[in-house]
Amino acid sequence: MTYPTQPTASHFINGQYVEDTDGTPIDVIYPATGEVIGRVHSATPAIIERALDAARNAQAAWAAMTGTERGRILRRAADIMRERNHDLSVLETYDTGKPYQETSVVDATSGADALEYFGGMAATLTGEHIQLGEDWVYTRREPLGVCVGIGAWNYPTQIASWKGAPALACGNTMVFKPSETTPLCALKVAEILYEAGAPAGVYNVVQGLGDVGAALVTDARVDKVSLTGSVPTGRKVYAAAAAGIKHVTMELGGKSPMIVFDDADIENAVSGAILGNFYSSGQVCSNGTRVFVHRDIKEAFLSRLSERLAHAVIGDPQDPDTSFGPMVSERQMNIVLGYIAKGQAEGARLVYGGKRLDKNGFYLEPTVFADVRDDMSIAREEIFGPVMAVLDFEDEGDVMVRANDTEFGLAAGVFTRDLARAHRVAAGFQAGTCYINTYNDAPVEAPFGGSKQSGVGRENSKTAIEHYSQLKSIYVRMGDLEAPF
Ligand code: NAD
Repeated sequence: MTYPTQPTASHFINGQYVEDTDGTPIDVIYPATGEVIGRVHSATPAIIERALDAARNAQAAWAAMTGTERGRILRRAADIMRERNHDLSVLETYDTGKPYQETSVVDATSGADALEYFGGMAATLTGEHIQLGEDWVYTRREPLGVCVGIGAWNYPTQIASWKGAPALACGNTMVFKPSETTPLCALKVAEILYEAGAPAGVYNVVQGLGDVGAALVTDARVDKVSLTGSVPTGRKVYAAAAAGIKHVTMELGGKSPMIVFDDADIENAVSGAILGNFYSSGQVCSNGTRVFVHRDIKEAFLSRLSERLAHAVIGDPQDPDTSFGPMVSERQMNIVLGYIAKGQAEGARLVYGGKRLDKNGFYLEPTVFADVRDDMSIAREEIFGPVMAVLDFEDEGDVMVRANDTEFGLAAGVFTRDLARAHRVAAGFQAGTCYINTYNDAPVEAPFGGSKQSGVGRENSKTAIEHYSQLKSIYVRMGDLEAPF
């Protein structure tokens, strides 16, 4: 099968596509059919060496450019990404199986937003002047050096851009390793940055499984590691980075609560629950998968939810009318089917869906469980699929304790018409990203990231600059210097 903008080799290093067929083959599988649509090769030690060398060698000259020059390149890359949105979205859909209806408005577009935002910011990055009487200190905001980005499979273009844009704006270079499940899109990000004028070696992509990620993280040439992945992987990568005292950003998993009070607009709350559970077939880290619904409106909520789920258009993700696509892989589909079986075995009430579709590809029905208890597996563990757990509550104080009773702290949402309650609840959530009467917005202007085990650091917004740069303080004495002897 051929498809538009197909990358021509496995890796992108030093401004060109590079192949090394000695690396273990990784099949690219189209989730909508199960067909193999391409093959890349895992990076060999020689490829890893070339990529890290390229990034290290390019860094000083890239950092020596003015912020305005670097920013212009990033903004040009944003323009190219937007011009090619259609082809990039088709490719994203082949990589992930997410419907074109989503990829055409979320993936390359949000990658472009990050490139534009941090491109605009590059020229504004400065240190400060601190007067100390006659003497003074000034600070320089300096890049960290070589950054490694490691991606998950749910948003391959977005993750490659969200990490690359602030890193490059600050004068760092990057070696990015996409998930082995979705290897294609990051190559396009690298190609576009190079075409926009980023010098060779500034942004490189290598393929591979966890072992390649681990080799990158432990290399002495690497100064910073930014991972998007699960909590168990985060623990390993954080520990490996700690051995070299490297900077880290960890964007990890979640099991986020969404609380629907009895005064909520039910239609909006149902919309929030749909967006926060079934977008990208539920494969979104910040999803609000524990939906606490006030007992008085539970049945109304569930019946309206079921009515609206019946309108999901499940099918060919390249068809713009399709609104619900397959799972990313057979493996992920089977993990989710396992949780659906557990939900039933542990006594939750299956209200909607629950089955695999009788067609090629890795399709599941959107699935809703009600009468879920806090101790059930489907209420405690991240499923990363289209499975919503609806739990009852009556009292605000009680539901807040239950909402926060989790190791995760990525996101949380509340639906209510009571303004004071909305802000009180948002303040009480132990989560990095909270929503009031909305869910899963992630504009580049706002910080995004998790608390507790869901992560360290933040992506997007001005704050991301803190995670890709460091301050140097320079003390200046104007007069004579006295010493005790
Ligand atoms: P994963 O943890 O299995 O893999 C993530 C990446 O880490 C992959 O590229 C993988 O090859 C690499 N990796 C695995 N072991 C490694 C090691 N020892 N050293 C270095 N790299 C290693 O995650 P996944 O299944 O690809 O993605 C799903 C997970 O990602 C979910 O938990 C989801 O919540 C999370 N996620 C978080 C965010 C966020 O922003 N917080 C966004 C998307 C996904």
